Amino acid sequence: MPDKNLKSWIEISADSDFTIHNIPFGIYNDASVRHRACSAIGDYVIDLYELAAKGLIKVDKHVLEQETLNDFIALGKTITNQVRNTLIQLLSDDNSPLKADTAAFGTVFKKQSAVKMLMPVRVGDYTDFYSSIDHATNIGAMIRDPKNALMPNWKHLPVGYHGRASSICVSGHSFHRPKGQQKPADAELPVYGPCKLLDIELETAFVIGKSTELGESVSTANADDYIFGMVLFNDWSARDIQTWEYVPLGPFLAKNFASTISPWIVTLEALEPFRTKGYVQDPKVLPYLEYSGDKNLDIKLDVFLKPKGGEENKICSSNYKYMYWTMEQQLAHHTVNGCNINVGDLMGSGTISGPDPSEYGSMMELTWRGTKPITLKDGTQRKFVNDHDTLIFRGHCEKDGIRLGFGECSATVLPAT
Ligand code: MN
Repeated sequence: MPDKNLKSWIEISADSDFTIHNIPFGIYNDASVRHRACSAIGDYVIDLYELAAKGLIKVDKHVLEQETLNDFIALGKTITNQVRNTLIQLLSDDNSPLKADTAAFGTVFKKQSAVKMLMPVRVGDYTDFYSSIDHATNIGAMIRDPKNALMPNWKHLPVGYHGRASSICVSGHSFHRPKGQQKPADAELPVYGPCKLLDIELETAFVIGKSTELGESVSTANADDYIFGMVLFNDWSARDIQTWEYVPLGPFLAKNFASTISPWIVTLEALEPFRTKGYVQDPKVLPYLEYSGDKNLDIKLDVFLKPKGGEENKICSSNYKYMYWTMEQQLAHHTVNGCNINVGDLMGSGTISGPDPSEYGSMMELTWRGTKPITLKDGTQRKFVNDHDTLIFRGHCEKDGIRLGFGECSATVLPAT
């Protein structure tokens, strides 16, 4: 465990996601800079280009003024972890040159509320898994057979599909309700129109930090070297479009109209203290999927629904620890056939549901396909997501006096055009 007594000389509120133990990475802009790599502490972003220009971190500063973090991440963990550790030192040491530098406020440190966070990475390829056993069981029970909810392959391999990178947007965006084909249960022919069953998927995603060559495989033992960090991820889903189109090749237009990611990449190193035991996998997995040690993570995840002009309503509290398959297994499986991965690729966890109905990570499960509507504080009900609703994910880890979090993953639904 890191030293819980480690404190920053910058004032940080007790519930802040951006403690001295976090030091995530992102990209911001404001009126004076187009795009800069940054970190965060308390209410501030830390401009890494300015720190490099002052010689306080040892990185070519041009890598820190790119549109995305891809080039920075590609420097490798030896460098990026060194930058993170230097930041922790600079922000905690009372004799830090940064503390003495009164001009740093406004150049190195900027209020998070005064800057705009941008897409942190250029995502080349995006894969989405289906690795929560409670989610897969709920969906299987609903759309197939409650007695045989899991497909025969589910406990033998981390099921996934290739998604689309072009429509992944950073938190704070809005998008129009998708249109497409649906087939109402009582109709003989499909109809075309706005999706009626718009849903969220509470997910996290990991960002690839090291590329491989075609033909190369990553083992579960080495997987962590290839995982730069994690973000919150909303894999927006159009359930009516999905039900009609998914046979036999899986999701297509029901998933690729928008996905939302949180702007801060929390490094795997920051998350290490929150490792916890995973599921006992029974039946035993094939040798290439075996792993040792505690490889799950205790990350508390909350979902809020905010109607236009209204209050936030918490509709779900889940936890990443409910994942059946670990990230290390997902990556080992993804590359076992020689499929190459690149820095910036994004791998979604799949909807993260827990065993309790309050822990279900989609509206489909929370309202059990619309049969148990959720009543909001303003008295209105939701079976799925309405126009002008904003859906906000938050996530944090807390253990032995150490806390860190992901910030927000938020997006607003506009009416279909
Ligand atoms: Mn998904």
